[in-house]
Amino acid sequence: MPELPEVETIARDLRGLVIGARIVGARSDWPRTLRSHDPEAFARALVGREIVGVGRRGKQLLVWLGPAGDADGDGASPDPAVLTVHLKMTGQLFVVEAGTPQDRHVHVVLAFADGRELRFRDMRKFGRMGLYRRDLATGLPVEGEAAGVLARGAEPLAGDFTARRFAETLARRRGRLKTLLMNQDFLAGVGNIYADEALWRARLHPLRDAHTLGAQDARRLHKALRDVLAEAVERRGSSVDDYTAPQGDGSMQEHLAVYQRAGEPCERCGRPIKRIVVGGRSTHFCSWCQRLPAEQRAAAGKLLRSTGDVGQPRATRRGTRWTELSGEGVLGRATDEEARARRIAANRQAASTRRAAARGGVT
Ligand SMILES: [Zn+2]
Repeated sequence: MPELPEVETIARDLRGLVIGARIVGARSDWPRTLRSHDPEAFARALVGREIVGVGRRGKQLLVWLGPAGDADGDGASPDPAVLTVHLKMTGQLFVVEAGTPQDRHVHVVLAFADGRELRFRDMRKFGRMGLYRRDLATGLPVEGEAAGVLARGAEPLAGDFTARRFAETLARRRGRLKTLLMNQDFLAGVGNIYADEALWRARLHPLRDAHTLGAQDARRLHKALRDVLAEAVERRGSSVDDYTAPQGDGSMQEHLAVYQRAGEPCERCGRPIKRIVVGGRSTHFCSWCQRLPAEQRAAAGKLLRSTGDVGQPRATRRGTRWTELSGEGVLGRATDEEARARRIAANRQAASTRRAAARGGVT
């Protein structure tokens, strides 16, 4: 699932593509993608509005819309609005010329006056879009309009997310670190990938009780979180599973130390990365570099044995890209972009072969 760096990348890409675009139509063939379940009302409320900005809160994208105006007297709300987009497992956003071929997984389309379309493609159909009146001061839905939709936790890359504040909130929390980091009401935007990576960087065991962290531990974890998220934003996110951004894939997946690397040697100590299952989610760590304090081991025993040492190692999975639907060049990519895409595919293949060889070495 796309996390903070992936959604931030999509927001940045979209800014250059859709700000200033005026919406002239909206359609959806899957009402449940819309939080209102009502495609007609959704279209009525959108038509006539201009996209004035794109932001992010946690793992959700915020598309800011100007007033609809009242010229056609269609009864649409004249208030500034915000469209929230949660990509969940497989959501993807693309901006293409109307008439560009599409497959059956495109479930929401916004048509622009300039002849382009913003398309939401979502194979598993877990993605959700909501349309709300916008609070001009915060950019968020007005109070009470989107209860339970947005994360309430701190934004880890925000200036006010200090080490001190993080340590104070950690000390008050019960529960295991991995679970807590992924709780969107504790911290916004961190999911499975970056929780595992930050804990490895901070040398903290994912099953460690949060309130047992010392001041040094908390400071290290705070720094690890900010560092790994900032690096991932820089690298346009991790293109594992179905994540891609409007302007192309990210490369952070080639720089992950533990996520989906069970059985491969730890970059720090050379011992094999382990995989266990915590709360139904696979969790990757180095049991040598990330020690669990002795007094917490008994309570964690069952979880630690949840899948054995190696689990089911596999190369990083990658879903089909929009640009691959009808072969190369379907979106009119320039020759150098085609060459780049082929180079990335070749690198990925080579990396997966190397990883398979590394796994062969430890089993
Ligand atoms: Zn290690």
